[in-house]
Amino acid sequence: MRIFTASIATETNTFSPIPTSLDSYLTCIAFRPGEHPTDKPTLCTAPLFVARQRAQQEGFMLVEGSCFFAQPAGPTTRIAYETMREEILAQLKAALPVDGVLLGMHGAMVADGYDDCEGDMLERVRALVGPTCVIGVELDPHCHMTAKRVGLADIIVCFKEYPHVDILPRAEELLTLVLKTIRGEIRPVASLYDCGMIAFYPTTSEPNLSFVARQKSFEGRDGILSVSFVHGFPHADVPDMGSRMLVYSDGDKAKGAVLASQLGEEIIALRGRTAPPNLDFVDALDLALAADTAKGPAIIAEPADNAGGGSASDNTLALRELIARGLDNVAVAPLWDPQAVAFCLAVGPGARLRLRIGGKTSDLSGDPVDADCEVLAVARDQHQSFGEAKAPVGDLAAVRIGGVTVIMNTNRCQALGRELFTALGLDPSSYRLLVLKSAQHFMAGYGPIASHVFYSETQGPSTQRYETHAYSRIARPKWPLDAEASGTLLL
Ligand SMILES: [Zn+2]
Repeated sequence: MRIFTASIATETNTFSPIPTSLDSYLTCIAFRPGEHPTDKPTLCTAPLFVARQRAQQEGFMLVEGSCFFAQPAGPTTRIAYETMREEILAQLKAALPVDGVLLGMHGAMVADGYDDCEGDMLERVRALVGPTCVIGVELDPHCHMTAKRVGLADIIVCFKEYPHVDILPRAEELLTLVLKTIRGEIRPVASLYDCGMIAFYPTTSEPNLSFVARQKSFEGRDGILSVSFVHGFPHADVPDMGSRMLVYSDGDKAKGAVLASQLGEEIIALRGRTAPPNLDFVDALDLALAADTAKGPAIIAEPADNAGGGSASDNTLALRELIARGLDNVAVAPLWDPQAVAFCLAVGPGARLRLRIGGKTSDLSGDPVDADCEVLAVARDQHQSFGEAKAPVGDLAAVRIGGVTVIMNTNRCQALGRELFTALGLDPSSYRLLVLKSAQHFMAGYGPIASHVFYSETQGPSTQRYETHAYSRIARPKWPLDAEASGTLLL
């Protein structure tokens, strides 16, 4: 048995001012065949990672293709997407014949001329491998689950947890289902239900926490193979954007359709209750400052300026408010400002300088902050943890403006691991308040030390006030933009 695997992934925020080029991939993640690290997967290469570990015991030969990932931002250029696509397709062609194909993708990749890069990729893969080859795909739940891609793949499995700490177990399940399909033990049949809505579904709190358990409760019994709740990615103006339910039954189309519809309707019934309150930043700050932080810092998350959703991570609204209030023992991280970090590296710890911070990428970044700063610490070429994975953050610099610590970096990213502080010799739990530029993934690293968590609205292309996005191409009606939006069984 021969299985080919490759990865091509990013999450495209079509409202982001930051372009995504081939360099965006080559400087982020670009492993050519055999180059993938042996000790850990990245967000979208878990299928390769688990297949490599299980190839010998399961009796298949794994042929590795290239793996590409870029930090979320605006649409990928056409030449970048087509270049990576053709590289992978050429590798697949050379590997033929194969019994299976495992693809690690994100699912919300948009390129110039391609609303559904994953659907396009699968169409070309299917054309090469033929109708009987089994194609399995692992996707992020923040994807656009188009009927096209569901029709072309044999089985698609999404992560269930948000933060995405379950990339490995979902990849294990995908591989198991693909192998069983190749061996003729199962016959996956897809059903897809469109919930007609967009929302935020962090699985660290209810009701989403229980819904993860509910999805799992159906899997592996009574003819149901897999249940993926597709959260959707609201920051993309493409027709298939939205929350969907994907169910695979073992050959029983009617049974899968009933369950997909039932679970989709359960999500519809939760409208307005899946997301924690999205407060104005000043209101979140009032609550955080009034909170008892004896057991750890209060945390205010900034989803609107989350680099993990394609934002610049250099908006200064929160920083300006902290400085204006004259607060002490508070910190903001990570603020993307390669130029300011370079200046801090040049003068070194202990130096004082007048620094211009943030506000550089676009009008959504706000005005820069000009302030007298003390450089607390600098560190080159650092990483942060996210579950099993490690993500590069580039060079780090911490400066103090009065009682406000600002942690800046050179590799645009969201707050994931506590290394943003500890790599600089700072203890994040010693602060009264941390303002973290992230929507939800910060919870994996910072949730355990937080006394309180608040979600706030600042400014940026990953705003959770969806009505402020200039959508023109998404399918309507869609809740909460349109109160009347209802659900539909698509497949
Ligand atoms: Zn995601």
